[in-house]
Amino acid sequence: MGKILLLDEHIANKIAAGEVVERPASVVKELVENSIDAGATRIEIAVTDGGLSEILIADNGIGMDEKDAQMAFARHATSKISSADDLERIGTLGFRGEALPSIAAVSRLQLRTRTRDSVSGTEVVLEGGRIQKVSETGCHQGTLIIISDLFFNTPARKKHMKGPNTEAGHISEVINKFALGYPSISFRFKSNGRVVLNTSGQEDLLDCIANIYGADFARDMLPLEAESGGVSLTGYLGKPSLSRAARSHQTVYINGRYVQDRMVSEAVERAYHGLMMTGRYPVFVLKILLDAGEVDVNVHPAKTQVRLSQPRILGEFIRNTVSEVLSSGRLISSAVFEPAETKREQDKQAIQETWNIPMGESLLREKGLSSAMVDEPDTADISDAADGPGTADRPGPQAGRYPDKGTTKEEGFPALRPIGQIDCTYIVAQGEDGMYLVDQHAAHERILYEKYMERPEDFVMTEQLLFPVTLQLTHLEAQVLNDCIIQLADLGFVVEHFGGDSFLLRGIPAGLAKGSEKEIFLDLLDYFSRNRYTITNKMLMEKFLVTMACRNAIKANDRLGLPEMESLLGQMADLRQPYTCPHGRPTLLHFPAYELEKRFKRVL
Ligand code: ADP
Ligand code: MG
Repeated sequence: MGKILLLDEHIANKIAAGEVVERPASVVKELVENSIDAGATRIEIAVTDGGLSEILIADNGIGMDEKDAQMAFARHATSKISSADDLERIGTLGFRGEALPSIAAVSRLQLRTRTRDSVSGTEVVLEGGRIQKVSETGCHQGTLIIISDLFFNTPARKKHMKGPNTEAGHISEVINKFALGYPSISFRFKSNGRVVLNTSGQEDLLDCIANIYGADFARDMLPLEAESGGVSLTGYLGKPSLSRAARSHQTVYINGRYVQDRMVSEAVERAYHGLMMTGRYPVFVLKILLDAGEVDVNVHPAKTQVRLSQPRILGEFIRNTVSEVLSSGRLISSAVFEPAETKREQDKQAIQETWNIPMGESLLREKGLSSAMVDEPDTADISDAADGPGTADRPGPQAGRYPDKGTTKEEGFPALRPIGQIDCTYIVAQGEDGMYLVDQHAAHERILYEKYMERPEDFVMTEQLLFPVTLQLTHLEAQVLNDCIIQLADLGFVVEHFGGDSFLLRGIPAGLAKGSEKEIFLDLLDYFSRNRYTITNKMLMEKFLVTMACRNAIKANDRLGLPEMESLLGQMADLRQPYTCPHGRPTLLHFPAYELEKRFKRVL
């Protein structure tokens, strides 16, 4: 007799759960996707203990009738595609028909759902994937799903969960991505009873950015919008001063789906090249819309990866668009006096109050959900929450908070008049709109860097040293040097072997300040060694020019006369990229006149 058996459906679902339901955050992701596909305009998520004890999701979408409510838990049951051809043009977030059966297989699940034209709803209760009860129930239009005791029957998976705080953090990340991807949907997320996120659903992406990352952050974002050959790009780009040490604040959507796509990230990063230090990553929210036939989303069970049919053309389009925004946008970071966190906390708290309108007893309230879910979509609650506190003192909903969309373009470098220096480090200047502080070292570094970059050949000519410098290297350094001696010669360094691991530096690049040749040389060697397998001549040259600019620039603590300051500010105005030093630090901060007036209580 043969040994192969067809697996029972429950085991098959549990196996699929292994891929689809990695942790509580994956449950939230799948369920929110379903709510979005169901056309919801409000989605509420409440979790207890990072979702390990309970996850609750309510939406005001189309709901399901009794038959569908049960069908939804059958393996590969989906209302979203009906033929293999549909797979070529996916317009919904879900399509695999796997999520509900997989989630149900590893939890206790309660579903309540009602369609618009039905007077009563359906309740389905499952345990470990088996239906325990189906009954008629009264409930709001839309769908409510409560998952308790996730992984109760898969102890091995449960053991791998991190603490509730970590899991709650993952969930929060997932919801943030949805909120940024769908500003037209109001998201409300509660963790252990505390409101963590509450978005207005008023289609304002910048407002969502402010909600998630803070108003300060939003203030330093530049709008992006472009269209070409059936592809549209929209979103916001962070000024270089917002850079991060990882790609954590990069959010990309392709046709409404949050994806992690290296090609897209790298295309954006290339446009930021020269504006931030190596090892720093730009922040951005980028939404790409293209024909559904151009993207294959059926690549991975979690659906966070896609395959594009013409990645190179898209990459070029992205890079050019981002470059254009960065070169025409004003990249000065605005200095604000208000401690941003406090302001955000206040906002959150007041929004929480707005949502917590008491209403009759229902499962929703018992479960800590807001009354807004049970009202029809056009009630006032959400828009109240959207305007929120802290806006009353402003003329318009967002006036003065962020740059107005579109107005950042075409603004040139401000005309600056120096007033003096602070700590012999920062130049205080008066500009067209308030006060500016210039970091003299960073600014001069940028000036020199652009000068060197314009005619690198003038600075990399060899100048023979009268007295050669001895370099006593480690064995490893000596090996590295052997590998890059030719590239270094191209920069103007003439090195001669002196026996063992010792070398003589006989010539140096003409632009190098005397006295620092050995340090710079070792810096470059180190850089080469760290990037041995990826380095190009161009990278090495750039690194050299950056290092040289840094060494040759005015230092912090250097006293400057007014004419020197004037000359420095004047040279800044002619720069291609005056707002950051070659490492990506800001060169100047702006304290707008209005902020000063507010601070001195001249205006309210
Ligand atoms: P998929 O999303 O891939 O179709 P799921 O297992 O996630 O598969 O869901 C199965 C089906 O259940 C969906 O196709 C949809 O018809 C229905 N469904 C799930 N969640 C909801 C919801 N929140 N509102 C309305 N229908 C839903
Ligand atoms: Mg789904």
